[in-house]
Amino acid sequence: ERKQAEEALRKSEEQHRRLFETISQGVIYQAVDGHIISANPSAEKMLGLSLDQMRGKTSMDSRWKMITENGEKVHGSDHPSMIALRTGEKIGPVTRGIYIPEKDEYAWLSITATPLFRPDEEKPFQSYAVFDDITLKKQHEDEIKKQQQLIHTILNKLPIGIAINTVEPEPKVELVNENFAQIYGVRTEDLPTVESFWEAVYEDEAFREKIKNRILSDINSGDPKRMQWHDIPITKKGKVVKYVSAQNILLEDHGVIISTVTDTTERKRAENEIINARNHAEESRLRFETLFAESPVSILILDKDTGEVVDANKTAYSAYGFDNLAALQQSDIWMEPPYSLEDALERIQKAAHDGIHVFEWKNRKVTGEVFWELVTLRPMVIDGMERIFSTAIDITGQKQKELEKEVLYRIANATFVSEDMETLLASIKKTLNKLIDTKNFYVALYDKGKDMFTIPYEADEKDQIEKWPAKQSTTGLVIRKKKALLLKKPDILKLIRSGEIEQIGNMCEVWLGVPLLSGPDIIGVLAIQDYHNPNAYDKGGKEVLEFVSSQISMAIQRKMFMKDLVIAKEKAEESNRLKSAFLANMSHEIRTPMNGILGFAELLKEPQLTDEQQQQYIEIIEKSGERMLNIINDIVDISRIESGLMDVTLKESNINEQLDYLYTFFKPQVEAKGMQLTLTDMLSPKKANTITDREKLLAVLANLIKNAIKYSHEGTIEFGCKILESHGRASLQFFVRDTGIGIPKDRQHAIFERFIQADIEDTEARQGAGLGLAISKAYVEMLGGEIWVESIEGRGSTFYFTIPYKTHHQVLNT
Ligand code: ADP
Repeated sequence: ERKQAEEALRKSEEQHRRLFETISQGVIYQAVDGHIISANPSAEKMLGLSLDQMRGKTSMDSRWKMITENGEKVHGSDHPSMIALRTGEKIGPVTRGIYIPEKDEYAWLSITATPLFRPDEEKPFQSYAVFDDITLKKQHEDEIKKQQQLIHTILNKLPIGIAINTVEPEPKVELVNENFAQIYGVRTEDLPTVESFWEAVYEDEAFREKIKNRILSDINSGDPKRMQWHDIPITKKGKVVKYVSAQNILLEDHGVIISTVTDTTERKRAENEIINARNHAEESRLRFETLFAESPVSILILDKDTGEVVDANKTAYSAYGFDNLAALQQSDIWMEPPYSLEDALERIQKAAHDGIHVFEWKNRKVTGEVFWELVTLRPMVIDGMERIFSTAIDITGQKQKELEKEVLYRIANATFVSEDMETLLASIKKTLNKLIDTKNFYVALYDKGKDMFTIPYEADEKDQIEKWPAKQSTTGLVIRKKKALLLKKPDILKLIRSGEIEQIGNMCEVWLGVPLLSGPDIIGVLAIQDYHNPNAYDKGGKEVLEFVSSQISMAIQRKMFMKDLVIAKEKAEESNRLKSAFLANMSHEIRTPMNGILGFAELLKEPQLTDEQQQQYIEIIEKSGERMLNIINDIVDISRIESGLMDVTLKESNINEQLDYLYTFFKPQVEAKGMQLTLTDMLSPKKANTITDREKLLAVLANLIKNAIKYSHEGTIEFGCKILESHGRASLQFFVRDTGIGIPKDRQHAIFERFIQADIEDTEARQGAGLGLAISKAYVEMLGGEIWVESIEGRGSTFYFTIPYKTHHQVLNT
């Protein structure tokens, strides 16, 4: 039995040894302290060491160099077998690099260390490590890893976005490269499912579903063409933020779909820009063409070098009076001297050189009519050719207005500077000719009394008439109609036939006459006529002529005002002179009685004066005082009249009584002078009463009688009153007649004015201040009457004045 048992053990050991010796893995046994007990041939081979070299060495031997996969050094105590011995647990398999001195390189081993226990012992007494040489495998793995990394790098560096999605078992985003992440703004980590990708990229659910279905159906169709997508919009917050083009490649064998995408936003934008630019260009071309065709501005397109008209719009060719472009191109009659083709070319070249050229230009139409244009030339490329683009607007009206303004200004000015009518009219004719043909131009002055025209100035080709009756003449018609007339030959003939006018002078084609006014009166006619062109004048011409006429009227009026002014000035000067004379006179007048008073008062002081002398002196002093009082009263009265302070007090008074009173009062004075006073006419007692201001009436009569006494040396002074009836109105007319010195005819009017004496040099007559008659006149007028004088120098004067005759009865009735 023992033999059998020994035999069995031997066999088992034999088997174990054979296995140990032949197994391809390396096997090493180590004791508890780590020293190597045995190593099989595979181990020797792998480590490049013989059993003898190894036996007895521990793991702690510094010659072992072990590293982890990361290249970190592994300490002897951390060798897998040492850990297994220490912990009593199986370690591994772990991959460790071990330095093989023989080869001077690391061999990579996959090691499993197992602790061995004796029956009933808790701690291992030995361990064995089994290991495979995996150097080659590891090299392969590293290689693969590198490859993968390369692929990864390539994927990330590719300029297109790539996503790899697995289809089975369920769609999953396997990988997206950097470009893809950038295009869509998502990263692999954010995309646990394909669905999450859709959600991230297309926020709008409806749109998302649409795109998704399309992509899925395209993929399912298996048609590679349908898997190519162009310019799919990517939206964010409802806005397209970019466009991408994508291609899906189905790798059925691998169960993946590879999606490649490129960001086409820029290209799409550039494309859009090109499209927009193209549309824009088309639009502007259309706009230009419309503008050109329909513009109210006349447009020419000219050859830059020859000035030829390449094209013209309708406005342009019709402006010159042509029906079509060709007619314009074949003609050059629209060039009005002094403007010439050479000038035009020069300007075109100037525009070509300077860029833009603006100027005024005079043109002629086919009809010969001349018109002004404001032209703008600018170089422009049209249909690929360098052209001159010319636009022009008609400024004839403006020009005409400017000219009119200038002419009218000059005419207005001429009325101020011309010395006499003839130079004025000559200057007007010349200036006006710039606007209207004034070859035949005349001014006829109208004499209303004789109903005749005279000509102060005339310039006519055919007629030289100086004077003609207004009646039945064309010029006279203006006076009768009181307005401007523009008559053409047929109108004139008609008027002649109807007998309204007669033909004077030559028959003209057109006649234009405007009235010459002075205030409301027509004082003459300003006329022009043309013997050849019936269209020489129009409405505008009429207006211009009316203006000219008003200027001439004003000039005439100014002349008249000047005359009035001169008269007024002379009058003012005379009145000033009279005032000075009066003042001198007045001081004399006051000084004379004053001297009398003072002188005789002085004489009175003489002690040896007789009574008679004394009496005489006192009388003189009294008279002088009286005279001074009169003068002062006169001055006070006149100033009260002038300042409007003089009142009228109406009362019933008996005229006869007053006349009687005056007669009695003045009789002694008159007789003392050796003359007679008679009261000839009186009113019948029944009619002697009237209503008037008695004081004023008395003052006037007394004044006149005093003057009669003053200015007579002999004869009779006669006065009286009678009733006058005219036009159912009654008045009283008084008179005072003398046979004195009389008043020169030219002074008869002036004596009624203040401070005026008939002849202030007449020393004898100097008894008053020249105010008496002025006061009398003022009183008479206040009472409602008139005063005047009839006188013959050296023979005598009769003063008359009237006042209204009002009975008590009449007054009550009114
Ligand atoms: P006065 O007599 O104080 O000079 P009046 O106003 O009464 O002033 O008269 C103005 C002038 O008219 C007189 O200076 C005189 O030359 C003239 N005159 C007035 N009355 C007569 C008359 N009866 N006869 C002649 N001359 C007269």
